[in-house]
Amino acid sequence: MSDRNYRNQKRSGDQPPAWDDSQYAALPKRNRARKQISGEAPYSQEELELQGRRKLSRKERERLRERYEERHAVPPSVRAAPPPTRSSPWRKIVVFGLFAILIGSIGAGRLLTGGTTPTPTPSPTAQSIAVASIELITPSPTATSTSTSVPTQTPSPTPSPTPNPAYQGIVICLDPGHGGSDRGYTREENEVAPAMEETFYNLSYARTLRNRLEVLGFTVVMTRDADVDVNQSGSDVNGDGKTYEKLFKTDPEAANRAKDIDELQARIDVCNDANADLLISMHINGFTDPGVSGYETWYSSARPFTPLNKRFAELAFEELGKEMAAAGYDARPRAVNDDADAHVEVSADAFDRYVITGPDQPGQIVASAMPGSIVEVLFISNDEDARFLSSPEGRIAIVNAFENAIVRYFDKLEQSNGQ
Ligand SMILES: [Zn+2]
Repeated sequence: MSDRNYRNQKRSGDQPPAWDDSQYAALPKRNRARKQISGEAPYSQEELELQGRRKLSRKERERLRERYEERHAVPPSVRAAPPPTRSSPWRKIVVFGLFAILIGSIGAGRLLTGGTTPTPTPSPTAQSIAVASIELITPSPTATSTSTSVPTQTPSPTPSPTPNPAYQGIVICLDPGHGGSDRGYTREENEVAPAMEETFYNLSYARTLRNRLEVLGFTVVMTRDADVDVNQSGSDVNGDGKTYEKLFKTDPEAANRAKDIDELQARIDVCNDANADLLISMHINGFTDPGVSGYETWYSSARPFTPLNKRFAELAFEELGKEMAAAGYDARPRAVNDDADAHVEVSADAFDRYVITGPDQPGQIVASAMPGSIVEVLFISNDEDARFLSSPEGRIAIVNAFENAIVRYFDKLEQSNGQ
């Protein structure tokens, strides 16, 4: 597909020598994107959704404290000042008003378990209160999934997020696409949306999703939990004798290809080593034509577990549509795609399937051993998509969609196993 070609051209054109940290620190585009993102109080949606719903475990409190410190380590000039038009009594009225409406209309059960037990967390900023209101009015995963999902054997009167014994021992491998030397798709700032790099958002969504899944009782592994290449050392991960280091002076094209394949194998290995039950490769799309927009998912039709690949791809597609619509964004549904139609290029040499979820490529790739899908949430190159992707309500809708799809996938699986 031409959008894949575009990305590869773009990457090989301005690629810095790999594994040289000084190169990354000097990238002005990246720094600007980070500042933009820091101004929006990173991770606050996560903090607030946790504190708004239930009491935190010690582990979670520690994680939040780390993130709080991380955020406050940012120079003050980078952080956004609270908007002057919002006085604090007004904010309180808005938040309490939302509580009253929600408790009245939806019923006290779930909200009371979390909403009335505030937990000690960093003092909220204006932005984070805005996020809290959005989180409260966003449909909960349980509320939305009941409309379409299969009936559970034991309908529970307390749908507060507590570990579900059925999910104990289920391992989910989240693969936030790109990172480190590979920024994925990027965009410049304009009047509609900020400067963005795909790698940051993929990781941001994945971290929030991990927290949600752990609360439900799943075990989560991530191919990366920082802005790094998974194969940071530049090792010959797939054992073909080729590395970037060995080749970049004599054959840059082959060097890039070796680097890409080793990186993909490193990601697959994380999921395989963890004996994961499901692999989700999380991406944002991009294209030369900024008019192209929407969400799509990919599955491999060349695996022994193809029906499961396809099922998750369909669930993720459906939930993305549902959750983005519920958040007020009319995103364009593209398709659930078979990777036989992908025509993937890895640095000028083609595979006929996506590597991360596709079959063995003899001598080059040992395939992932579990069902999986690639999810391209929206287009970073489209202004409206990018605005939604970078907004607090957008992030929450996307994480909701992943969470709902995973829950529906395993609930169905458990049912068919039980029969
Ligand atoms: Zn991507």
